[in-house]
Amino acid sequence: MKYLFGPVNSRRLGLSLGIDLLPPKICNFNCIYCEVGPTTTFTCERKEYTPNADIIAEIDAFLAAGQQARPIDVFTITASGEPTLHSGLGQVINHLKAVTAKPVAVLTNGSLFFRADVRQELQQADIVIPSLDAAREESFRRINRPAQCANLEEIITGLRLFAGNFRGELWLEILLAKDINDSPEDVAALRQALDDIRPARVQLNTVARPPLEKYARPLTEKELTEISRLLPGTVEIIAGFRTRKRENTRSAQKTELLEMLQRRPCTESDICEALNLDGQSTARLLRELTENGDIAQSAHRGKIYYQTLQTA
Ligand code: SF4
Repeated sequence: MKYLFGPVNSRRLGLSLGIDLLPPKICNFNCIYCEVGPTTTFTCERKEYTPNADIIAEIDAFLAAGQQARPIDVFTITASGEPTLHSGLGQVINHLKAVTAKPVAVLTNGSLFFRADVRQELQQADIVIPSLDAAREESFRRINRPAQCANLEEIITGLRLFAGNFRGELWLEILLAKDINDSPEDVAALRQALDDIRPARVQLNTVARPPLEKYARPLTEKELTEISRLLPGTVEIIAGFRTRKRENTRSAQKTELLEMLQRRPCTESDICEALNLDGQSTARLLRELTENGDIAQSAHRGKIYYQTLQTA
């Protein structure tokens, strides 16, 4: 499968089948914490980057193949870059809503919400999770390194307009990096923006996986907790500080793991959680793939990450 990946266990969404609208990274940001790698196509142009008919054909083939071993909870539209840059987004959402009763979630950097066409297409989704990492121009430029055409004021206005009409769930993600976008001034500006946007939930995150830039450092759990108390509304910390309880059941699919590692480096515990595997089975699978030369490991901040050799 070129566009579909998983299903993977998502902490936020349950068992999620991912749909990657832009397999080569196309984005209007070049975030210092990006897990995908440097932005190769840096653009604000919205167009059909991948043939929409091919994405829809893959979705239909997946559904025609029948019930999976583990029934999925949600379809999650994402991209190796920014999914709203793909002009076929609305068509993909509408198709999913027509052919399945499962909820549709969209992960986005939120930068194109100032466009009426993007807001209108996203109205059909059930859950929309945009990012807003900074509400001060200086910090926005440091953390997201946007293209010239991206305008912070327009982004916040677009988020507010979307939130005002959206009938589904809007969860706003904020990723904080140490000494980049976590100052008291940043938190105050974010607070003001959140008062304006009023998302159903705010999800606080920090740098976890190997970032694009080594200087992108995480906040501690204590620091995130303190900041969460200063923000309005329902605020939850989604950074994975704790090991989660795992189900000790299914056998792993190598292809599932390879697809997952092609998109981002993962720790052994990430893999256990995503594939619902116990530690022993995961270790066996990783050993086998490493011996075959399919994957490699690297150390980052005291943790071992696995990734496919193409991106290692
Ligand atoms: S918006 Fe997402 S894909 Fe684009 S650079 Fe930032 S983290 Fe990477």
